[in-house]
Amino acid sequence: MSRVFNFSAGPSILPEVVLRQAADEMLDYKGSGMSVMEMSHRSKVYDNIIKEAEKDLRDLMKIPDNYKVLFLQGGASQQFSAIPMNLMINGVADYIITGQWAKKAYEEAQKYGKANAVASSADKTFSYIPDCSDLPISPDADYVYICHNNTIYGTTFKELPNTKGKILVADMSSDILSQPVNVSDYGLIYFGVQKNVGPAGVVIVIIREDLIRDDVMPLTPTMLKYKTQADNDSLYNTPPCYGIYICGLVFKWVKEMGGLSAMKTHNEKKAAILYDFLDSSDMFKGTVVKKDRSLMNVPFVTGNEELDAKFVKEATAAGFVNLKGHRSVGGMRASIYNAMPIEGVEKLVDFMKDFEAKNK
Ligand SMILES: *Cc1c(COP(=O)(O)O)cnc(C)c1O
Repeated sequence: MSRVFNFSAGPSILPEVVLRQAADEMLDYKGSGMSVMEMSHRSKVYDNIIKEAEKDLRDLMKIPDNYKVLFLQGGASQQFSAIPMNLMINGVADYIITGQWAKKAYEEAQKYGKANAVASSADKTFSYIPDCSDLPISPDADYVYICHNNTIYGTTFKELPNTKGKILVADMSSDILSQPVNVSDYGLIYFGVQKNVGPAGVVIVIIREDLIRDDVMPLTPTMLKYKTQADNDSLYNTPPCYGIYICGLVFKWVKEMGGLSAMKTHNEKKAAILYDFLDSSDMFKGTVVKKDRSLMNVPFVTGNEELDAKFVKEATAAGFVNLKGHRSVGGMRASIYNAMPIEGVEKLVDFMKDFEAKNK
């Protein structure tokens, strides 16, 4: 067996110990005589799995008691419609457009009400986070929406927008559990788990209880109504059982690593190794304004497309895979999620130095 250093933006690297444990428990989960994939979601064994996953996530993020945690399907993108359907009571919401995911959410919301783009960084290929200290927030906005970490462009909110008292909704798909979060700052946090937590097929919604209502938009599908899911503890229908089980194992792993503060230190260390090199290199350059740099996704370019392609090819051959940048930015992108060891980033930088020396 040989494992590569996997810099994929998503689905992405998972902790090796978690994969090993899942392999060990594949045929016989804790004496049940069956795989987690084969058991009823109404069984006692499975009930323990989902309850423990929720408890561990609550512990890690210090989620207050007046928030519900929902384990859902449909990916992060399904929430682009669920959020306006459930939260647009006045029919108005303000969106901050910092990349493609925020833009998609904004475009989807327009189907359900008046969605306003109150800020955008589209003018410079989303390479920065706009100043959000004094935005033209709509007086009747039901919420203000952000994408907290922009997976494609490699920017992140270091300071939350001033929502002028409105509820903040955040997509944290690509930086959840990478650092501590003050959940009370948000009305709703959601994340597709396949970046930093688990296998694709699970999306987790953390929502303040008073935002879970019965009088949502009349055409809201039963499955997309948060109240349905909250009233049924995410077991209205069959949940993505196996995916939730893996998320639970990852939550335990993050706890063992020391929790979110330790995770932040670990991630800052990794990011610094890569950014320090990019700042000192004559060949490789980061594409993002320094103060807005993400800890998770690091896009960079050489400025020469042929050289970029050569780098990606040689890196792949050397075991550093999935480094090709998103088509809208070009160049390269290294996603260095929680499960990426420091060694992976150190070795990547060594490889980059070597490549630079050989291709001067
Ligand atoms: C990957 C990603 C999405 C889309 O997730 P799906 O589960 O594929 O719908 C949305 N937002 C962010 C920030 C992402 O990184």
